[in-house]
Amino acid sequence: MNLNNPSLLKTSAYINGAWVEAKDNKTFPVHNPFDGSVIAHAADCGKDETSKAIEAAEKAFLSWKKFTASKRSRILKKWHQLILANVDDLAKILTLEQGKPLAEAKGEIKYGASFVEWFAEEAKRVYGDTIPGHMSDKRIVTIKQAVGVVAAITPWNFPNAMITRKVAPALAAGCTVIIKPSELTPLSAFALAELADQAGFPHGVINILSGSDAPSIGEEMCANKKVRKLSFTGSTRVGKILLKQCADTVKKVSMELGGNAPFIVFNDADIDEAVKGAIASKYRNAGQTCICSNRIFAQAEIYDAFTSKLAEASKELSVGNGLDEGIHVGPMIEEKAIASIENLMEDAKAKGAEILTGGHRIEGTSKLNYAPTVLTKVHPEMKIFSQEIFGPIAPVFKFETLEEVINLANDTEYGLACYFYGKDYAMIWKVAEALEYGMVGINTGMISTAVAPFGGVKESGFGREGSKYGMDDYLEIKYMCWGGID
Ligand code: NAP
Repeated sequence: MNLNNPSLLKTSAYINGAWVEAKDNKTFPVHNPFDGSVIAHAADCGKDETSKAIEAAEKAFLSWKKFTASKRSRILKKWHQLILANVDDLAKILTLEQGKPLAEAKGEIKYGASFVEWFAEEAKRVYGDTIPGHMSDKRIVTIKQAVGVVAAITPWNFPNAMITRKVAPALAAGCTVIIKPSELTPLSAFALAELADQAGFPHGVINILSGSDAPSIGEEMCANKKVRKLSFTGSTRVGKILLKQCADTVKKVSMELGGNAPFIVFNDADIDEAVKGAIASKYRNAGQTCICSNRIFAQAEIYDAFTSKLAEASKELSVGNGLDEGIHVGPMIEEKAIASIENLMEDAKAKGAEILTGGHRIEGTSKLNYAPTVLTKVHPEMKIFSQEIFGPIAPVFKFETLEEVINLANDTEYGLACYFYGKDYAMIWKVAEALEYGMVGINTGMISTAVAPFGGVKESGFGREGSKYGMDDYLEIKYMCWGGID
């Protein structure tokens, strides 16, 4: 791998400030999804290494929590600067192991860095309260304190930002962390650890380990009493397993889980803007984001105009190797992922869906490149309505009334992001209030930013990442009741 800063290509686990191999030097291969080539072999850690990392984090917590907020903030700011100074290399590593186009990868690195900057500032604003007492001789005060050792488990679709979104607020709050990235994308995580090391975090404050046996690492993180908080981003299925495992030690948990985002276009919407928003929210990362629009609903009057413009715009997207100039859509992450969308396509076609564009893998490039696809004649009995698609397929459902589309949009166990386009102000308020989702994009398909609270309701999880609320998940409120003050 040709990097300006070769020190960023690390393959060992980072535990207690040292790069260490897994027991018996076990490794697993990391692949480039575009061509299947092996780009590195990463340390294959398991329960023992996880337990060591937890011990290191517990020890480091004793001193890290006592650092002044401004001292923690300075180290976070240094980390932020180093991430930005290495954006090209970090993006290259990310595209190689994950597949997304280089421009998107750079966007993710900057987005990821913005959480580090934001929480470096928020570290200084962890305020308590004074509360009017309930008796004349009593005074009541609250303070907020770091939760303790935090374990973070992150997915492959944002190998950088899903880490910083958890780790930055945890560190700012005074917690120490152990991170397990996906085995598909460990290199971006290690590169972040290398920069954290250069930034000067004390040993044990940040620990990162990878492994091919996620359940055994997860079990140790959940069962170990020294871990006081688990923060997970990934599928609802795995989130439920982890929630059950955390029950025995009654850990504080945050869950950023799957989505099934509706994207609604009303008759009075600006159709061209709605098409732009749908393209941005549907095809980012080849459709593999938790907030990708999953079910597009267009109102009857504008249905044909919207779907044909969406199909035209979808056809213009170039699909190929994320490292090549001008590519909009890279390969899907692995064969299993593309097989899953093919299964959804078979079901939709068998139940009457019509393909306006796409619907197939792309010949002559990666076997994981799938064409941006627009489907019409779709209905709620198709699997594509209820399942998270996680691929570049845009089914467009037709609706007549506001009430009908609200019911359809809410007819899912998920509640992460939703979007709608329209102009009538009263309707905008009503729709935004009626949609059962944690995040609402109104006349926009792009909602992610460090300054706003990211998170879901229902089976999309709980907890918020980013914004002034993002620290709360890593803090405990302590109440002090002072008596005898007459
Ligand atoms: P996943 O299969 O749930 O995996 C997520 C992480 O959990 C990975 O690190 C994985 O490791 C690990 N894992 C898997 N089984 C585990 C177990 N039994 N115990 C402990 N850890 C375990 O999800 P994914 O396929 O990587 O990511 C896609 C999902 O994440 C989608 O549902 C998407 O919507 C969701 N997501 C949500 C958000 C959000 O903010 N709400 C953001 C991004 C993605 P391995 O990969 O090594 O198996």
